[in-house]
Amino acid sequence: MTDTDTSFIESDERRALREAVAAMAKNYGQDYYLEKARAGEHTDELWAEAGKLGFIGVNLPEEYGGGGAGMYELSLVMEEMAANGCGLLMMVVSPAINGTIISKFGTDEQKKRWIPGIADGSLTMAFAITEPDAGSNSHKITTTARRDGSDWIIKGQKTFISGIDQAQAVLVVGRSEDAKTGNLRPALFVVPTDTPGLSWTPIDMEIISPERQFQVFLDDVRLPADALVGSEDAAIAQLFAGLNPERIMGAASAVGMGRFAISKAVDYVSTRQVWKTPIGAHQGLSHPLAQNHIEIQLAKLMMQKAATLYDAGDDFGAAEAANMAKYAAGEASTRAVDQAVQSLGGNGLTKEYGIAAAVTASRLARIAPVSREMILNFVAQTSLGLPRSY
Ligand SMILES: Cc1cc2nc3c(=O)[nH]c(=O)nc-3n(C[C@H](O)[C@H](O)[C@H](O)COP(=O)(O)OP(=O)(O)OC[C@H]3O[C@@H](n4cnc5c(N)ncnc54)[C@H](O)[C@@H]3O)c2cc1C
Repeated sequence: MTDTDTSFIESDERRALREAVAAMAKNYGQDYYLEKARAGEHTDELWAEAGKLGFIGVNLPEEYGGGGAGMYELSLVMEEMAANGCGLLMMVVSPAINGTIISKFGTDEQKKRWIPGIADGSLTMAFAITEPDAGSNSHKITTTARRDGSDWIIKGQKTFISGIDQAQAVLVVGRSEDAKTGNLRPALFVVPTDTPGLSWTPIDMEIISPERQFQVFLDDVRLPADALVGSEDAAIAQLFAGLNPERIMGAASAVGMGRFAISKAVDYVSTRQVWKTPIGAHQGLSHPLAQNHIEIQLAKLMMQKAATLYDAGDDFGAAEAANMAKYAAGEASTRAVDQAVQSLGGNGLTKEYGIAAAVTASRLARIAPVSREMILNFVAQTSLGLPRSY
């Protein structure tokens, strides 16, 4: 375990990866990201380049075209892209959640069909668990799959599904109906987005993002037997396999966004002068920014711990750290963006300076993929052993 003991000191290889991702992301930057978002377009060029350079699939098995590294490396990619103003939400979904689930639990055929494309970015896979009437309570989902001969017929509705319009497939979390007893149990299906009966409509969000959210309808969608991921009996384990990567990536996105906001603010307050020194000399501005920096660095450390535990195979240890990292990063980045707006005064609310654009996006880190309150529930019950209220 010597690697694990010292892994918060980054290896040369990881540092080189960080620099390479940052260099690529800088070439695009926030202007590109916002331009695409405002034009209702996708960041296809950035996605394609990140795929070609091996960044998107860095965590996926080499055998199927991935980089053979781990969640540490993928979270580093996410963090650096976000720190350069172009963090892509689909990184959380396609390689982290879906890539992990399929490469750990999919059949050989499923791995061959989906992983190489996810890894090189030539295909994107959306993820659909949230339902309008279930929300945070995923035990209450009602999307149901029943057998028809060897096929599956799926019916249900999902909401807030990111990027299904730019995806070739979506991993749907539903329940399968036992033919004999009628009992429902969780099941995961890969649904190609051109399957008849699958449709979506955009939700008008107040987030400036090239990746949009959708209501998704599954109206008697007929799928072949091999659309079911892995085994019908292992769905819970499969779903759990996606949770730690999801939270680590949520943390990485927030850490990156926090770094981005702090760096914009620092640049601005270092030169803006309205009294006899740059405004960054006033402790009313420098102290909150210093606090933001400390909080982001602490959240990052917990994220690195979570990724290290996860990559070492300690799923249980990783779960506590991943939840804590996601919580801490969400809080720290929301505060950092708010303080960046404040630091820029009126310019904090202009289009030109790009900080106002991050305000609603930064709140996302407190809500998705799992809300701040559900993380506090997890920590209260799992780490502290307190009773549940629900
Ligand atoms: C931009 C964006 C992108 C998203 N992308 C995806 C996606 O790609 N795929 C997908 O499946 N989903 C996606 N989601 C959905 C996201 O995961 C949910 O919004 C989130 O899990 C919260 O569910 P909800 O919105 O239904 O809120 P609710 O569950 O209705 O919760 C509302 C509030 O009540 C609180 N609350 C609920 N239960 C409890 C409790 N027991 N104790 C204390 N507080 C509680 C919550 O913390 C929250 O503050 C996305 C959401 C957003 C905003």
